[in-house]
Amino acid sequence: MSFQKLSIDYRIFTSIYQLPSEVQSLFQQATQSLQKSYAPYSGFTVGAATSSKSGKIFTGANQENGAYPMCLCAERVALSNAIHLEREDVLQYFVIVGGALEKMETEFLSPCGACRQVLSETEYRQQHPIRLYILGKKEKVLEFKNCNDLLPFGFVYKT
Ligand SMILES: [Zn+2]
Repeated sequence: MSFQKLSIDYRIFTSIYQLPSEVQSLFQQATQSLQKSYAPYSGFTVGAATSSKSGKIFTGANQENGAYPMCLCAERVALSNAIHLEREDVLQYFVIVGGALEKMETEFLSPCGACRQVLSETEYRQQHPIRLYILGKKEKVLEFKNCNDLLPFGFVYKT
């Protein structure tokens, strides 16, 4: 038996204006996509935007449903839209914003476990990390250098 320690590196920015202009633009796109959210049950809108190395942008917004398990998170909607990405291109940045952050118990809008799994597998499939940015209260932003850091010991099925 041995003890192991797991740690991840991340950065906290106090404003989106400290981020690269490409990421700032993604935050604007994700915020605009909040208008496409359908959240009549929770009232909690979420927007996401992702960009590829070649500069293509894909957005998503959460889509709730009266049959609750059918709800779709903004992150997975954005990733579904990214199926239009050319095979030789890869996703590079991913941004998540929320419309009612004051309702959160936590300081940052963290992706759910299912979205972490899908984001992590997307990285695995494209063999390229996706830098992840999460909006928090008081306009703070968390930056992770890859999505896999949020899902240690995630399930990976070798194809
Ligand atoms: Zn989710």
